[in-house]
Amino acid sequence: MRVFNFSAGPAALPEEVLRQAADEMLDWHGSGMSVMEMSHRGPEFMQIHSEALLDLRELMQVPASHQILFLQGGGIGENAIVPLNLFGAKPRADFVITGSWSQKSQKEALKYGAAHIAATGRTEAGFTHAPAKGEWKLSDDPAYVHLCTNETIDGVETFEIPDLGDIPLVADASSHILSRPMDLAKYGVLYGGAQKNIGMAGVTVVIVREDLLDRAMPICPSAFEWKTVAANNSMFNTPPTYAIYIAGLVFKWLKRQGGLTAIEARNIEKAQLLYDTIDASSFYINKVERRARSRMNVPFFLADETRNDDFLAGAKARGLLQLKGHKSVGGMRASIYNAVPLEAVKALVEYMKEFEAKHA
Ligand SMILES: *Cc1c(COP(=O)(O)O)cnc(C)c1O
Repeated sequence: MRVFNFSAGPAALPEEVLRQAADEMLDWHGSGMSVMEMSHRGPEFMQIHSEALLDLRELMQVPASHQILFLQGGGIGENAIVPLNLFGAKPRADFVITGSWSQKSQKEALKYGAAHIAATGRTEAGFTHAPAKGEWKLSDDPAYVHLCTNETIDGVETFEIPDLGDIPLVADASSHILSRPMDLAKYGVLYGGAQKNIGMAGVTVVIVREDLLDRAMPICPSAFEWKTVAANNSMFNTPPTYAIYIAGLVFKWLKRQGGLTAIEARNIEKAQLLYDTIDASSFYINKVERRARSRMNVPFFLADETRNDDFLAGAKARGLLQLKGHKSVGGMRASIYNAVPLEAVKALVEYMKEFEAKHA
């Protein structure tokens, strides 16, 4: 029996995709091989690879000015890979801190240069605020400004992306990439690990504007140098072939769903239902300011935290899994990525209401 899986990542995948991968496991399209067993330079995998790139470009409407790279190392790897690729001429960047992930990005960049904190969304209630451009105190001539557009742990999403003129904006979009259309022309670099909203762990998508490919530090490892990876069509070294294959199946699934505008409408409906339930009760609390509430990761607290274990046990008994909040913030967190259906959120809010009626 499949459960409703609210994991923050690795996270739920569309059942259709899992079934197709199972069907094709031993023999991909008459090749007599599993995708895992293929040469990454053979015609079968080349087809899988190029279709994945094309489908992603179409889904996200990536402009011709930007390259799509399939890398490894995850979001945390990018925390080093970004400065290594952009600190060549001026080793300094600005960071907008909206939660735990942008904080980590800033700390890692310090290994390679200056990492100025331009704004922070930390309040007395934790990370609950997404500072708008007017609150950013940018330094003089940074190599880039870094932003985590969806803070997976704190549930803070940034919806207004400012125009920074000549300063490239770098965004960690790991946990909401593909959840809605994004205007990529506004970003110098946008990256995300796959295990939240793209597919399985192992591949990292990096979308980079071509004019930024020339700014790497000499010490940047070749396998992580965007220019080298781009020149080799993301095949400078063996790519994570199976993870790219699964991502490709998810891209095709998304196209069948109607693309990002259609999936956004469904994501809004799911998030609205959950936030409305929380707001309608004094039993559940979400502290994030409304304009910055994440549609993908919904942290919430029970007003009476002594009932946390009870709540989780009751949820598990109903097949509602992985609702425990991140250890750094506590409470609960429901991650409702693209692959989590509306029925899952309906089952969750029904359970929440019953639990409240029983214990309030
Ligand atoms: C999960 C996550 C990461 C870390 O990804 P890894 O694959 O573990 O390196 C970084 N940033 C954000 C926003 C994330 O959600």
